[in-house]
Parts: sequence; structure tokens; C-alpha cells
Amino acid sequence: MSLSRRDFLKYGGATATGAALGAGVDMLPVEAAAVSLKIKEAKAFAGVCPYCAVGCGQLIYAKDNKIIDIEGNPDTPHTLGRLCPKGAATIQLSNNPLRPTKPLYRAPGSDTWEEKPIEWMYDQIAKRYYDAREKYFIENEKNKDGQVVTVNRLEAIASLGSACIDNEECYLLSKLNRAFGIVYHEHQARV
Ligand code: SF4
Repeated sequence: MSLSRRDFLKYGGATATGAALGAGVDMLPVEAAAVSLKIKEAKAFAGVCPYCAVGCGQLIYAKDNKIIDIEGNPDTPHTLGRLCPKGAATIQLSNNPLRPTKPLYRAPGSDTWEEKPIEWMYDQIAKRYYDAREKYFIENEKNKDGQVVTVNRLEAIASLGSACIDNEECYLLSKLNRAFGIVYHEHQARV
């Protein structure tokens, strides 16, 4: 018998369906049991995926002080429990031995990373912001007609906003940048 491609797909689908029905196995209870076993006796905490500003709700299951599962929270009105692949992998933020958990600093010109206290990092960021602004702030500039005009601009620092931050944080970041005079003010997600 010669089969067209369409016939092949039709017979193939029918055979697969027949095999599944013939075996009489309903996988749903098995799947449900497997899921409930995994999170049995775990405590669920509602959270929000930290990766982007879509803000998908999550249920974080913890047992013995350890996160054992993270899944979408079906009570979240705008996602109804769905997570994108990145959000579905957020458990790796907690359970991943390869993830650095301490701040690492690489000095200019160096090829090695060294651990530093987080307070040291904050101080460095503040100091370098301050120094760069003191050194490079442009108060006045000549326009194309040769007139000196006030610009209050800082071109030595660029700001790249994160897709993790929400509306309010974006607002604060914009205010901070504008207070500094930063004009290179961009956002990772370009929204
Ligand atoms: S990264 Fe994915 S799961 Fe996380 S908030 Fe954004 S869209 Fe939702």
C-alpha cells in the first residue's frame, strides 16, 4: 500500500491514540501524585519572579530551610500561573553551587577577581560616582551660534536600567540620573 504524507500522519496519529487507549493508562493522577509528592509537607510562600518587570507571581515551596520547588502562582491575575522558561528556572538562583554568592571585584588592569564586603562595594560606587561627576560635569557650553548656554550635563557616566526593576524603581533611577545630569540614560528592555 502506498501512503501519502497526509495518510502517514493520519494513520500514525490513529495508531498512537489506539496504543494509549488500549493500554488504558490515565497519566493525570500519576502526574498529580508526582507533583504532590515533591512538595508534600513543604511550606508555600507567594513571591514574584525577580527577572523582569512582567512580575509573574510564583509559589515558592520550602522544606527544611531549603527551596525545593518554584512554580507559577495560579492566583496571579495577569499570568494565571504561567512562567516563561527563565522564570521557571528561578530555583537555580537558590540551589546552584556555581552561583557566586559574594561580591567580586576586579581592579582596573587586573586579571583576578577578589572577594570584597558589600559595604566596600557601595562605598566604591558612591565615591566613583562623586569623583566622576566632580571631574566631568559640564555646566556651560557654547551653542552653534557661539553663545554660552547652561547645559548642566554629565557625559562621563552612562546608566543602563534593568528589566528587573519596576515602575517605581525606574522612576527613582530616572530622577537620580537627571539630578546628576546624566544624559546617557538607557534601559535594558527598551520599553
Ligand atoms: S522573567 Fe519570565 S517568569 Fe519572570 S517575570 Fe519575566 S516573564 Fe515572568
